[in-house]
Amino acid sequence: ATPTAVMVGTGRAAELGVLIGDGDALETARRVTAVVLDKTGTITRGRPALTGVTPTGGWAEEDLLALVAAAETGSEHPVGEAIVTAATDRGLALPPLRSFDAVPGHGVDAVVGDRHVLVGNRALMAARGVDVAALQPIAAAEAAAGRTPMYVAVDGRPAAVLAVADTVKPGSAEAVAQLEALGLSVWMLTGDDAATAAAIADQVGIEHVLAEVLPADKAAQVRRLQEQGHVVAFCGDGVNDAAALSAADVGIAIGTGADVAIAASDVTLVGGDLRGIVSAIALSRRTVTTMK
Ligand code: ADP
Ligand code: MG
Repeated sequence: ATPTAVMVGTGRAAELGVLIGDGDALETARRVTAVVLDKTGTITRGRPALTGVTPTGGWAEEDLLALVAAAETGSEHPVGEAIVTAATDRGLALPPLRSFDAVPGHGVDAVVGDRHVLVGNRALMAARGVDVAALQPIAAAEAAAGRTPMYVAVDGRPAAVLAVADTVKPGSAEAVAQLEALGLSVWMLTGDDAATAAAIADQVGIEHVLAEVLPADKAAQVRRLQEQGHVVAFCGDGVNDAAALSAADVGIAIGTGADVAIAASDVTLVGGDLRGIVSAIALSRRTVTTMK
């Protein structure tokens, strides 16, 4: 595009809350064939809330929640924050956190008081040899409803299933429909449980879901689509998304997301509304047509 066309284009986008880095980004946006969306914080608000605690093995709900919340005080993950908030809201006293390890994409491993506490997904329990088969139906029901199930093990024994719920942003479903109307294929990419991801995808009309993807593998999933011939726009908000944002042909960050995600991207959606992606792509097509 001519510099003038690009300036007019990026200026109009800015009015819509879409910040476009440079003319190259606008030209590449025009050729995009696949849009990959992170789930948590991108399609959804990214502010999960604890919705359920199902204890087992003789645990009282409040004792169990206090133990788990103590473990999660060490975590920066939104899911951890939701659990701590729930315990605080109930006025629970948290036992002392003695040691803490975050297991990326899986959960946390902590020592609380004299108890060993594991909180996380099925893969974490499998890796640590905790048999959660008896709790699986409860977790499956939570996931089918679009909530994220997490298992808790105390001293190596199953102790509970927790569930957290996050809500879809108002513009997400409309954005997906409009992107498809522009002829693009739309994908969801998430570290979350496959059944939870499928339920959320269903709510916003996404057919292609890549779930239970470890943070370190998100960029590889973007490259896999590129190897299949796609020109890929990836939109994400998190620290975990920086590599995928760089790998994508067009990286689109959520303006309220992590600074490293914004730094790794070509386009920023100031208010986080996914309809901004539609504006950017539609605009890129118009801008380049104008100069012809
Ligand atoms: P997302 O793409 O949803 O941000 P992550 O890759 O960060 O997912 O995490 C994947 C899964 O690992 C979460 O859905 C959750 O089940 C589990 N997990 C991650 N961090 C925690 C935590 N602090 N406490 C419990 N579970 C966690
Ligand atoms: Mg996210």
